[in-house]
Amino acid sequence: MQVQVNELPKIVGDLVREARVVDLHTHLYPPMCKELFLRGIDDLLTYHYLLVETLRYGRITPEAFFALSKEKQADEVWKTLFVDHSPVSEACRGVLTVLKAYGIDAAPNSLDEIRDFFKTLSPEEHADRVFAAANLDYVVMTNDAFDQVETAYWGPDFIKDKRFRAALRIDPLLNTPDAAMKFMREKGYNTGPKMSAETAAEMRRFLADNADQIEPLYLAASLPPTFRWKDGTVSGQIMEEAIVPFCKERNIPLALMIGVRKLVNPEMRLGGDSLGRCCVASLEQMCLENPDMRFLITLLSRENQHELCVAARKFPNLKIFGCWWFLNNPSLVREITEMRMEMLGVSFIPQHSDARVLDQLIYKWAHSKEIIADVLVDNYSKLLETGWSLTKEDIKRDIDLLFSGNANEALGL
Ligand SMILES: [Zn+2]
Repeated sequence: MQVQVNELPKIVGDLVREARVVDLHTHLYPPMCKELFLRGIDDLLTYHYLLVETLRYGRITPEAFFALSKEKQADEVWKTLFVDHSPVSEACRGVLTVLKAYGIDAAPNSLDEIRDFFKTLSPEEHADRVFAAANLDYVVMTNDAFDQVETAYWGPDFIKDKRFRAALRIDPLLNTPDAAMKFMREKGYNTGPKMSAETAAEMRRFLADNADQIEPLYLAASLPPTFRWKDGTVSGQIMEEAIVPFCKERNIPLALMIGVRKLVNPEMRLGGDSLGRCCVASLEQMCLENPDMRFLITLLSRENQHELCVAARKFPNLKIFGCWWFLNNPSLVREITEMRMEMLGVSFIPQHSDARVLDQLIYKWAHSKEIIADVLVDNYSKLLETGWSLTKEDIKRDIDLLFSGNANEALGL
């Protein structure tokens, strides 16, 4: 049956809310990874987005702050951002959206009560509740082959819970190749100290051995704005001779998250990174030279978003995903999603959560879904004005592509 323009907000809103979600990039781990499985109010409040917002008020030095226990840090964040000021920032509102979803009426004096609520949830129960609330099919983790705390958990049990799928993260290979080669040498791979055909082969063996343990859906790296395809450096060679051939051999995509300027303020730790604009022309060249490979790309700088849309129009093997980190704010998500839909139809992956704490899945998806639904309503309204007719099934097909279908296709699932 044909949808009328006045029915659009309700129909689209309901379909978007009910849409099953594939979350292409998170920093979450399954409940079996005890200390890595972050959840509950103290982890929510000590999220690095909220730490920097707290430290900005200058009431406590970063050094003194990080010397506190997690609970005391959370107390400090709560007092600064929720008691002494109104929690209007996106990251603050996110905490309140989570609490509301659990039926908690948060108020400045309710932190103890909130802590008591989370203590009642077992890790498994907690994961079940969040996955149901956010309507998630699965999330993709960030699995760092160079992090020995994490790799200690790897093996069949690590990937048993199919709600948590793996992605093999390889930043040191590209960002600090000397240290990465030394690390691999110590693990029994004959890499470096100089780049050679043997080193490239040994790097591919290292990638294969790691991939065999966690069955990654893709290889991933977070890169500085200075990244260039074939830039003549050791990193460029590693990209060309180890990483790209490995992805081709396994038929998995390469995800590049580009634009991070690491630790511009080291004292802020995880919150100390900034951003910069990258070279999209270089990404176009990479897509041109590797038509048989899928690239998942997200860029951190707002100023890169238009040229990235243009590049995606030229290269079907370039899949744009998400509004990353500093872009994950309602005003920017709206602007970027509108632009992408105008230029790419529904052939992009509008969002990923980047969640580090389990409960963040609830707010990050609720907030994004609301905006994506609004953008869809606007575009469908304009479509109906032309005399084009739409059915509920047409709309559902588009929404399913945006929230899961395009991601599954990009992953070859
Ligand atoms: Zn991330």
